[in-house]
Amino acid sequence: MRLPGFPIAQPGETFASVAARHLARSSTPKIRHLKLLGLRIASASSLIPHDLRHFVSILPPGHPWEGAPKRIALDHTLVPLFLHFCHPKRAAETLTTIVTGESTNPAATLGITVSQGQSMLNAGKFCPECLAHDLKTLGYPVLYRQHQPSFVRMCATHARPLHSSCVRCRSTRNAVSMWQVAGRCGCSDPLTPPLFGMGHDALTEASWLWLSKQVSAILAAPIPSEPIAAHLFSALRNGGFAAVRGGLDSAAMIDALIDRFGEPLLRELGTGSWFDSQPHKHRPSRTLTRSALDGRRIPNVLHMLLLTRLITHDIATLSKPIAAEPKQRINRQPSGYGQLRSNERTRLDARAMLSAIDSAEGKITVAAQRLGVHSYTLASVMRRQGIRLPLPPATARRLGVERLAAVRSALRQGLPKYEIAQQFDVSEWSILLIELDQPELRNAHRDATIARQREKHREALHTFLRSNPRETRDDFAKNHAGAYDWLREYDRDWLEAKLPAPVRNAHRNTRIARKNWLKMDQDAVASIRRTVHEEMCKPDRPTRLTQTRLLSAAGALSVMNRNAQHRYPSAKAEAEHSAETEEQFRNRAIRWALDKYAEQRIPISINKLRRVARLPARQLIEQRDYVVEVAAELGLTFDARCSLAPWNQ
Ligand SMILES: [Zn+2]
Ligand SMILES: [Zn+2]
Repeated sequence: MRLPGFPIAQPGETFASVAARHLARSSTPKIRHLKLLGLRIASASSLIPHDLRHFVSILPPGHPWEGAPKRIALDHTLVPLFLHFCHPKRAAETLTTIVTGESTNPAATLGITVSQGQSMLNAGKFCPECLAHDLKTLGYPVLYRQHQPSFVRMCATHARPLHSSCVRCRSTRNAVSMWQVAGRCGCSDPLTPPLFGMGHDALTEASWLWLSKQVSAILAAPIPSEPIAAHLFSALRNGGFAAVRGGLDSAAMIDALIDRFGEPLLRELGTGSWFDSQPHKHRPSRTLTRSALDGRRIPNVLHMLLLTRLITHDIATLSKPIAAEPKQRINRQPSGYGQLRSNERTRLDARAMLSAIDSAEGKITVAAQRLGVHSYTLASVMRRQGIRLPLPPATARRLGVERLAAVRSALRQGLPKYEIAQQFDVSEWSILLIELDQPELRNAHRDATIARQREKHREALHTFLRSNPRETRDDFAKNHAGAYDWLREYDRDWLEAKLPAPVRNAHRNTRIARKNWLKMDQDAVASIRRTVHEEMCKPDRPTRLTQTRLLSAAGALSVMNRNAQHRYPSAKAEAEHSAETEEQFRNRAIRWALDKYAEQRIPISINKLRRVARLPARQLIEQRDYVVEVAAELGLTFDARCSLAPWNQ
């Protein structure tokens, strides 16, 4: 049976809008019509009904969609948008899968996850001016596909906010009544608020408009035959966002994104995890990995659009490779035979760097590109030469005042940089930028590092002499090679003064003193107690007290050996008694981590806590009661989403 008539779609009209116009014409129940169309189980808000074969077979002869599901997919759904950045081969395969009805879930076939799908498509949005225009010229309202992605909030033609579908009846709407004509829900007084108020933030507004325009441009053109993602990737790499070890530099991209779009918009778009403390997999560089470039994965179109903005203001320029700007050639002086060629670092002189920074308006990635070096190289040469670069405002905003102050003070105290990075959750690159902002930090950090090392190595000798008063300098050199070498190199006078006098002709003294085992056992017990005391009092991260560790610190490890187990009876008992169980240690680590939190006065999140405490999330959850108890004792609060919080139990 063929339908007697079916409306012809307007250019860009959504499939659901055309179907709704058809349903609205007739007075018979919608549900019967939907059954007839083969759309009974289709959803009006879906990307595309999963099987259109029946539908296209009953259209009246001569209808443009008759027998042509591909026309529907390409011209009246968002499928081409989601395939735009996909590798052309994969795009063609995916399109075929969808239009032949082989895919039971087209959104999933396009790589859109359920949670993304809910936020990617909120159907039924419309532009009041477009609507008024259509009513005047066509006599009926039309829903346009370019208005429907969730990240489109403005009409690209009229540059004003879109309005949502009626919110008054949203909660009571069922699947059938979702098939509705633009702005008409059946309410006597529909409430269709604009998606945002105009005029509060120019940058955000301009960004919304830019996104809308790119979506319109993508949908106006056919699915590209060029690998757009690959063009974007190489353009980003040439544009100063190349990471040292291949791939893209997330930290630099985040700064640039915040510069372009502003933080509020990026959060609104759900990309807040890019600059919050999140595991590596949420970084922007992960959206353009090899699997996205070679077509194993369909990249996220919103993320691709955001990255596109770092390279060009017009998506159309990506349809062919963007040529890299030729690097400035720097002439090398012939250096003759037998000499090392000068490397990148030595050929950068201060004047060239300063003028490059100046002409790049303080943007170090741009300056580095002009100089033809990597931004890390430029930054570290500048740091070495003490050239100041003011901290980019975007980086300062992202890190926040308190964290900046904490990182600076940690640098002054000579904390190793990998520990700073871990403890305050900042990247190496950010630390470099912070140092560049205050060149004196570099010397302060180096001096403090030396002081810490000296303290550590001197302490090693003190401890050694205290617990082994009879040992010679050779024993110290053998047992503490690192400390001995360092002290001999940099602290020789002190070392000579502290070490026992060299034993002359030691080899002639063949008589070995009889060992006093009882005394050694008692010394070992004292040494174990001292180790326990030091471990419990130290301000640094806890290390577990194991039997092996205690016995070895006391020089009594031989007691673990079956042949010698009678030698240190008291030490053995003391070590067994003082060693921590796994749970005891875990609780101590948690308490230490929460103490750290108390200093920072921020709400507890499981993600950060597990890194500070260096415990897996699973173990933290097992110890939830203890965490809650200690947090209450210290007066700490929980992040609302933290699964450790008492209310999430
Ligand atoms: Zn409009
Ligand atoms: Zn309504």
